Amino acid sequence: MVDKVYNFGAGPAMLPEPVMQQIQKEWLDFEGMGVSIIEISHRAKEFVAVLDEAQSLFRELTGVPDNYRILFVHGGARMQFSALPLNFAGCVASKQCLYVESGNFAGLAAKEAQAFCNVETIASSAESDFDRIPELGSEEINQEAAYLHITSNNTLYGTRWNQFPETGSIPLIADMTSELLSRQIDYRQFGVVYAGLQKNLGPSGMAMVIVREDLLGHADKQTPTLLNYTQCDKDNSLTNTTNTFAVYVIKLVLEWLKEQGGIAAIEKRNEEKAARLYQVIDGSDFYRGVARPADRSIMNISFKLATEDLDAKFLREADDIGLYALKGHRNVGGIRASIYNPMPLAGVEKLADFMEEFERLNG
Ligand SMILES: *Cc1c(COP(=O)(O)O)cnc(C)c1O
Repeated sequence: MVDKVYNFGAGPAMLPEPVMQQIQKEWLDFEGMGVSIIEISHRAKEFVAVLDEAQSLFRELTGVPDNYRILFVHGGARMQFSALPLNFAGCVASKQCLYVESGNFAGLAAKEAQAFCNVETIASSAESDFDRIPELGSEEINQEAAYLHITSNNTLYGTRWNQFPETGSIPLIADMTSELLSRQIDYRQFGVVYAGLQKNLGPSGMAMVIVREDLLGHADKQTPTLLNYTQCDKDNSLTNTTNTFAVYVIKLVLEWLKEQGGIAAIEKRNEEKAARLYQVIDGSDFYRGVARPADRSIMNISFKLATEDLDAKFLREADDIGLYALKGHRNVGGIRASIYNPMPLAGVEKLADFMEEFERLNG
C-alpha cells in the first residue's frame, strides 16, 4: 500500500477531499434532522433548499445570465444526445441539425440524433485521428438549421475548442461534460450547454443543462416527459424523483469551488497543472502527445510511448506508486491523465517526476 493514491481516471473521477469528508460527517444526520439527506423526500423543504442553492451557486460562479435556466436531468450526458433533437429540432421546419465530429462522444451525439432529426455533420477531424479541432468556416453554418452541436472538450483525445464558432442566428449547443467549471466561459455564446456530472461536478448518472429561455417550448410531441426540458424547467427539475444525492454533492462541490477562489482561480491552477505535464511531453521524444499543441485540453492529457509494451510497463509502475487509472481509452490507447478541478498540483508533480524518471530508465 502507498500512503496516497492520486486518481487520474476520466470519469467517474476524483472529488475534492473536503467534500467527501463533509458527506461522511453529515451522512447520518443532515443538518440536525436526525435522518440522512438521501432518506428525505425530494419535495422536502430541506432538499429543495439544497437544489436551489446549487442553482444559485452555479449562477454566481459562472455568471450565467438570468435568461438561462439551470436544470438537473437524468441519464448523464448521453441521454441528452437524444433529448437535444427532441427539444430543439422542432425550432425549424426542416429539422436540420448540424454537428461537428471532433471525437468519440461528438460522433455518438450525431449518431443518436439521427433517429429524431436530419443530421448534417459539417466538419470532422476523423481523418487525422481526432488530434485536432476541425476547421469550420462560418459559411458552412446553414442559418436555416435548428442548431450547431459541438463537444467543447474531447475527453479521449485531449483536445478542446479555444475559440467557439460564430453561429450567427442559430444556437450553439455544447457538450461540456469533461470541462464544465474548469475555465471561464462566456455563456452568452451558447444556446445550450450541458454536462454529465461525473467528471468535474459529482456522481454519475445525471447531467446539468443550461438552456436559454427562448429555446424552450419547441419540444417534439413524442418527447418523453422526463426528456422534456420545458417540463423540467416548469417543475424546477423535480418532475419525478431526482437523484437527491447527486444534487447534494454538486452543491458541496460548488461551495468548495467558491472557497478555492472561483472559476478564475481554478482555471489558473488547471493551466499550471496541464503545463507541467505538457512540458515533460514537449521536452522529450520518448512521449508523444496525442493532441496537436494548438488544440490541447487542460483537463485530459493523452500521450503515447513507443510501444504497447512500454505503455503497459508505464501503467504498472505508475500504479505501484499510487498513480491510479492512467490507462488511455480503448479507442486511443496509450496513457491519459485526467486532471479535473480537484486534482492537486502535488498529484500532477508526482506524475511528471515519474514520467521523467521512467524516461531515464527506459528511454
Ligand atoms: C464522459 C462523456 C460523455 C458520456 O457521459 P455519460 O454521463 O456517461 O453519458 C459524453 N460526452 C463527453 C464529452 C464525455 O466526456
